[in-house]
Amino acid sequence: MNDADAARIAQGLSAMGFQPTHQAERADLVILLTCVVRQSAEDKVVGRLSSLKSLKRQHPHALITVMGCFVDDEQALSARFPYVDAFFKPSDIEGLLQFVRHSLPAAPHYQTHPIAQAVCAYVPISYGCDHHCTYCIVRLRRGKQRSRPLPEIVAEVRSLVQRGVREVTLLGQNVDAYGQDLPPGAPDLADVLLALHEIEGLWRIRFLTSHPADMSLKIIKTVASSSKICPHFELPVQSGDDEILRRMGRRYTVAQYRELVRTIREHIPGCSIATDVIVGFPGESEAQFQATYDLLASLRFDTVHIAKYSPRPGTPATRLPDDVPPEEKERRRALLEKLQIQIATEINAALLGKRVEVLVEKYHRGRWKGRTPTDKLVFFEDTTDRRGQLVTIAITHSGPWSLLGKVV
Ligand code: SAH
Repeated sequence: MNDADAARIAQGLSAMGFQPTHQAERADLVILLTCVVRQSAEDKVVGRLSSLKSLKRQHPHALITVMGCFVDDEQALSARFPYVDAFFKPSDIEGLLQFVRHSLPAAPHYQTHPIAQAVCAYVPISYGCDHHCTYCIVRLRRGKQRSRPLPEIVAEVRSLVQRGVREVTLLGQNVDAYGQDLPPGAPDLADVLLALHEIEGLWRIRFLTSHPADMSLKIIKTVASSSKICPHFELPVQSGDDEILRRMGRRYTVAQYRELVRTIREHIPGCSIATDVIVGFPGESEAQFQATYDLLASLRFDTVHIAKYSPRPGTPATRLPDDVPPEEKERRRALLEKLQIQIATEINAALLGKRVEVLVEKYHRGRWKGRTPTDKLVFFEDTTDRRGQLVTIAITHSGPWSLLGKVV
């Protein structure tokens, strides 16, 4: 979501004549896009803000702004960080651009530098979240779910495609809950996918993240029915134990989650599934952790994002003691990581010698980089310009994180 916001901000600023710089010391305007999903992310924001303090001292004319989930109580933040010129709520891009327009003098020396359009773009289709997961701060900072009207989404994707975009990733905190906040009879995610499928010049459609309790057979069948919709699901399970899931407020059981994965794999053979897991939730016993381990071992996900539970201010879970010691959280995390590396290595090794279709995104350190429809990273060498092309690659090397191959 922050990447999507960053791209939109960059677009808006470049239209106003700004150019990006890699050195903060040279900037007239600094925008810090923030995440506070875990304490470690929040610590990074605070660290970065303290280094911006000396920048403000050296360059008092430079505007320093902060946007994103760090921004809660603006008054309290202004008191704590007086050198920050303005704070903006998550995704308040219009607010930021307006502030810049009013604060920075018209600069005739600025020329517009349209930003080269990437091959792949993020398109937020809903903002906020209506779930009440007891550990999660996102709903508190981003508010209730607001789905964008379908015609607006279609118009945006059309204009992206006109500018050369070939793949869009639809974003929502719970992207499969799209439309649930709209009046009855409104479109759901399946309808959005089908509408975008019709757009000529758009080759691939992805969506993330799906909440297991919001996934429907209609969505699964729609993914199965369209060659443009990538057969890939991001479906966070969080825990393999029913009691922990209940205390997390996840609104599904392990059996229901297993059944969902079975249904997806039955309708879309060869699809890939990624998940998120939290270890060390308050009260998580060794046996409950083992249940998560066993679930990952049996469902064999393509990717697992593992997080150590981090108490977040204002969330109900902070009323429970954070009683799994840090070393134990780390031990559990490392065990899951080791298991998943082995599983991913095996899954990817099955692609050796096979041909895959890759949409080429960019050239990086002497190699082209792209992805398969199942979201596997593929690198290959080639002297011709392959950017934005769909190429068939024969896989020659595989590892847990990526694949190497040759153009066929
Ligand atoms: N809305 C989706 C996806 C959320 S993505 C869903 O709920 O399924 C954010 C991920 O960050 C979550 O899946 C979770 O694994 C992790 N996360 C959120 N809050 C956390 C916390 N307090 N401590 C550790 N990990 C957390």
